[in-house]
Amino acid sequence: MNEADKKNILVVEDEAQISRFLQLELEHEGYACSVCADGRAALDAALAQDFDLIVLDVMLPSLNGIEVLRRLRQVKQTPVIILTARDQVVDKVTGLDIGANDYMTKPFAIEELLARIRLHTKRAATQAAVGDMVCGKLSVSSAARIATYDGHAIDLTKKEFDLLEYLMQNRNIVVSREQLLDSVWGFDFYGSTNVVDVYVRYLRSKIDDVYNVNLIETVRGAGYVIR
Ligand code: CA
Repeated sequence: MNEADKKNILVVEDEAQISRFLQLELEHEGYACSVCADGRAALDAALAQDFDLIVLDVMLPSLNGIEVLRRLRQVKQTPVIILTARDQVVDKVTGLDIGANDYMTKPFAIEELLARIRLHTKRAATQAAVGDMVCGKLSVSSAARIATYDGHAIDLTKKEFDLLEYLMQNRNIVVSREQLLDSVWGFDFYGSTNVVDVYVRYLRSKIDDVYNVNLIETVRGAGYVIR
């Protein structure tokens, strides 16, 4: 593969053994890999350069991974997979809340991390190619991560946006709760499909209810469709 065609991954990890291992594995898979052992330096690197994905440990010197992510998200949407310690559920939740695309709990299986890296780099590439999606007065830009109705910005959380985006990518096609769960919440989500209904309600309260329309339809026994 041509050097310029390689996807660029930034590994932020202060445990040299782990970062060295990740670098070797990633390079073996055909990625270009940069390594950073310090939070502040990682944030600088992530802002200065457009990485295709960042693997971000939470426990880091000078600036922790959560803070790196928070500051990064104010500026850009580079896909981020956070690495959390097994006993730090709070890091996982906080990380996802402030815009991590996925997380892995240490110790992790390298195959699983590689699978997630493939998934998220591919998703990002697809989104960049899609451009704005329009359905009536509703417009969704994956690149800018902005949704508008009749020109008014709709204030959405990350998950709400992901859900709306997926519905828009499949507009006029009925998608099942299981499909939505897989695509929006990820293949590792073990919770109930009720979470989909809850988030559809959130979306309706921010779009349908506000503009008095019925964009997101429930198809009994089948799922949801936007049209
Ligand atoms: Ca660490």
